[in-house]
Amino acid sequence: MTNDVESFSITKNKLDPDTAREVYEIGLPRLLDVYARHDIKCTFYFTGEMAELVPESVELVTEHGHDIGCHGYDHSHDRAFDSMSLMEQTAELEKAKNVIGEIAGRIYDFRAPALRINESTIRALEQTGFNTDSSIASQRFDGPLTFGSKRKLKWLVAPRHPYHPSYDSVVKKGDSKVLEIPISAFIPSYIGTTMRVSPLILKVLEKFLFVESRRTGKPIVFLFHPNECLDASSGITPVRRADNPIEYIFADVLRHALKSRNLGVKAVELLDDVIRRAKDAGFEFVTVQEYRRIAK
Ligand SMILES: [Zn+2]
Repeated sequence: MTNDVESFSITKNKLDPDTAREVYEIGLPRLLDVYARHDIKCTFYFTGEMAELVPESVELVTEHGHDIGCHGYDHSHDRAFDSMSLMEQTAELEKAKNVIGEIAGRIYDFRAPALRINESTIRALEQTGFNTDSSIASQRFDGPLTFGSKRKLKWLVAPRHPYHPSYDSVVKKGDSKVLEIPISAFIPSYIGTTMRVSPLILKVLEKFLFVESRRTGKPIVFLFHPNECLDASSGITPVRRADNPIEYIFADVLRHALKSRNLGVKAVELLDDVIRRAKDAGFEFVTVQEYRRIAK
């Protein structure tokens, strides 16, 4: 189970300091309670900004025995990792790592905001002491319903098993020291959004992933956000983020309507079901660092 902790408000469709507080006061406690009841440990990827705004949120998660990773510095749309140079990415990672590390100690796990990485990201991660990445969603395809969707087409050819990416292509096996642990997907992805938009589609995908994992030993990676545990607030007009009209209709309007389904307590219940089904099927839960040790 992996969790991205950021100040993004799903209802408002923007980064928002008030949401950072709500994630700490409402979202995280609800989520940590689910994991505690099932007695499982996971990895929480924090943005540097979240750690700066509410340092107590990082403490709360470490107190519960989970691992802390890095989810970039500020998650802003115009500072996506795949749009930055190697030097910029290294600086961004250094900055986020210092803020988060001051509270959590040394961190090794990374997931890019909006899952946007390029070849320089792998080098930048090595240079800043990270040893895992989980930003590739092999065989995920969501058409125009995402930002940076053209670049994400390369996910269709990415290996399904954890791998060391090559320095020339993040979706090819190579010699880098970073272990890429892909987010589980097969057209739809195994994430909180799919779970909330269509619990049925998630279950069908899950059946496939369970069979595949039993056959090949491939780990199953679920992605969730504590902000999904916040109740939807009504009467708020979402912010427009896209510039061109097509991207606006799909990535902003449609995507926002879908992403707002089953938020809050309902999301917590659905997540509880996901964990219960995996436990019933005999799966064990480990953190990303624990998996890295097992894989070695
Ligand atoms: Zn994120």
